[in-house]
Amino acid sequence: MRLNRRLFIGSGAAAAISLHAPALLAEGHGKPRVIVIGGGAGGATAARYIAKDSDGAVDVTLIEPSKTYYTCFFSNLYLGGFKEMSDLGHGYGALASNYGINVVHDLAIGVDRAAKTVTLAGGTTLPYDKLILSPGIDFVDGAVEGWSLADQDVMPHAYKGGTQVELLKAQVMAMPEGGVFAMIAPPNPYRCPPGPYERISMIAHTLKATNPTAKIIVADPKDKFSKQALFQEGWNNHYSGMIDWIGADFGGGVVSVDPAAMTVTIDGEETAVSACNVIPAMKAGRIAEIAAVTDGNWAPVNPADMSSRADPDVYVLGDSADQGDMPKSGYSANSQAKVCANAVRGALTGSTVFPAKYSNTCWSLIDANDGVKVGATYEPTDEKIASVDSFISQTGESSDLRRATYEESEGWYAGITADMFS
Ligand code: FAD
Repeated sequence: MRLNRRLFIGSGAAAAISLHAPALLAEGHGKPRVIVIGGGAGGATAARYIAKDSDGAVDVTLIEPSKTYYTCFFSNLYLGGFKEMSDLGHGYGALASNYGINVVHDLAIGVDRAAKTVTLAGGTTLPYDKLILSPGIDFVDGAVEGWSLADQDVMPHAYKGGTQVELLKAQVMAMPEGGVFAMIAPPNPYRCPPGPYERISMIAHTLKATNPTAKIIVADPKDKFSKQALFQEGWNNHYSGMIDWIGADFGGGVVSVDPAAMTVTIDGEETAVSACNVIPAMKAGRIAEIAAVTDGNWAPVNPADMSSRADPDVYVLGDSADQGDMPKSGYSANSQAKVCANAVRGALTGSTVFPAKYSNTCWSLIDANDGVKVGATYEPTDEKIASVDSFISQTGESSDLRRATYEESEGWYAGITADMFS
């Protein structure tokens, strides 16, 4: 007996039926096959949980071009001198050896949703029963006047981990005495809402020690930003007079850059800069667009299991997903990946599927031992993943509490990277 797979997946009774019909979804080709594209916070976690919890019953392939994943999380601490780049690098060896995940270091360049195949740059075509996309972000072309991706070696975005972040740090360290560092901040929604402002804090920390007369300008198309009161209090306390944040109300969104001349023009006023970090508007990673599961920018998903609204056999995790209230963070991607892994395993093997619950916390370091955080728990509604309750650090907190918050973030980093890669 064989169940019709399409009807089965579309059925509201899927979870109940699947308890009695594991592996029938494999359609006669042996173990059910899951392909995960992107070995970052969402993808590595999803691959690991599906393989670990299904105990060999599901064939999991993880496609990721890089042999080492450099986390964006804590990359600002590298800019501040609190971490080495080597602290941020993680390999995929344990995923292969501990759980039998087939790790393929290649770039996915095609998805045929009708044929259920993924094509790799190396020429291979792989079939799947369930496809999970967690490719992170790409940048919107033409988002910052005068800047294109070809200029990233002169004015880095440093919004993907690794070499871009190293380049930004080298440029900060090479600034002449009293030079100007500029950041072009991104519009909402974007990866890591507090990220640009933690970055400003960490660069100020570095410049205060190496180049105390340097200035920092932030041109921002937004009129407010994540943890703003906490950052601005911290900037006054630690880096007084160094940081000029120009929000939308003061022309912060009317910006152009000239990488050849090393100038930034904000609301008609041109400034010569020694280093410039351009963080353009973002959209879902390109492969999500190629798979035709985006609305042009982000990939709408069902809040209960992160499946694509365009295709029940495709799931989109992390930054690429348009899911509702969760910020685009590594913590969110990891949380979504566990919900997705549980749902995918349930659909393929008949294991129990638990109701989705999500959570997130974003920590930021403002100065040594001055850590702050914001977070929430979330549950799915019909329309979106909705915030249930939230918390945020307060201005004026004691240095003991701020230190404890920073130490908590160190524990989180160790925990999430183990949850992805060990
Ligand atoms: P990623 O982790 O970026 O993973 C995507 C992976 O997909 C990459 O490895 C990429 O190589 C791969 N990929 C892309 N396209 C393809 C393809 N076609 N084929 C195969 N592979 C592909 N989050 C936090 O929770 N806490 C923090 O403190 C924090 N700080 C941050 C600070 C900064 C400066 C930045 C930039 C981000 C920060 N984040 C933080 C956000 C966090 O890094 C992202 O939200 C998270 O990495 C998203 O996970 P993801 O799986 O969606 O994407």
